[in-house]
Amino acid sequence: MVAAIVVRDLHKRYGDNHAVRGLDLTIEEGEVVAIVGPNGAGKTTTVEILEGHRKRTSGHVEVLGFDPETGGRAYRERIGIVLQEAGMEDRFSPRELLRHYAGFYRRPRDVEEVIDLVGLGGKADERTRSLSGGQRRRVDLALGLIGDPDLLFLDEPTTGFDPSARRQAWDVVASLCDVGKTVLLTTHYMEEAYRLADRVAVVAAGRLVALGTPDELVDQAAGAQAVISFRLPADVVVGELPRIDGDLTIDGDAVEVRSTTPTRDLQALTGWATERGLEFDQLRLLRRSFEETYLELVGATTEPDDA
Ligand code: ATP
Repeated sequence: MVAAIVVRDLHKRYGDNHAVRGLDLTIEEGEVVAIVGPNGAGKTTTVEILEGHRKRTSGHVEVLGFDPETGGRAYRERIGIVLQEAGMEDRFSPRELLRHYAGFYRRPRDVEEVIDLVGLGGKADERTRSLSGGQRRRVDLALGLIGDPDLLFLDEPTTGFDPSARRQAWDVVASLCDVGKTVLLTTHYMEEAYRLADRVAVVAAGRLVALGTPDELVDQAAGAQAVISFRLPADVVVGELPRIDGDLTIDGDAVEVRSTTPTRDLQALTGWATERGLEFDQLRLLRRSFEETYLELVGATTEPDDA
């Protein structure tokens, strides 16, 4: 595997504010990585340093073999950037805008192909100003793709989208991976990170607090990994249940077991019930969600004191 992005011991200070505090991150070519974290965590600062829009205070940064601070045009031609507020010329149609922007690149993608890829077909000749928020975001994405970048930066790509537009945008990003692009995105939607990203980087108070596939992060998080819940059968008192490792709570006849060994606890409980010919009503096994894991990971981090 070849690294598209290598960041080592990155620091950024804004005066007294030490916004990025020794961040390490390596992203392979063809990976989709989501950076998530609370407001002020240092995500935008980090991404803008990678894009070449901001100078770092110290640390090693290499993107597609370039130092973004000095890569110049050769570097910018290899990356695509989709910002939250692109400020496009909205009196032109998407097709006109794309033809215009294509002229800035030595080897642009075919305009019609890009219109197709982002699903702008029926709207390609309308004035961009008359498009809905979600449709304009597709234009943003199309403009990020027109230079046929190897690496695409997406800043909160679906903020303000309705749920169906969000799913369509996810399909577009997924199709980029199919053609081998590397994507680095920031998002506040954990479902988006979960669905889109090969790996998620959780950043809090300027530091990387976790990095892995969404499932790895859920599995590694401390504490209970799953909740087993069911209704206690009539005539059974809770003291009769078998010994289990998980923490059991009961509210009326509703039993909940938070377990780090859900397979074993579930087997003990269902084995016990089966032997007695009992059924547990509403028996469910719920895995801890990625959002809960995220909240736990960032909850352990307080606002940066200064150092
Ligand atoms: P959000 O989720 O709100 O977009 P973020 O994780 O992207 O947050 P950053 O925008 O990188 O966070 O900000 C990190 C810290 O750096 C914050 O304390 C912010 O106030 C500070 N900061 C960001 N940009 C500047 C700037 N141009 N000048 C001074 N301080 C800044």
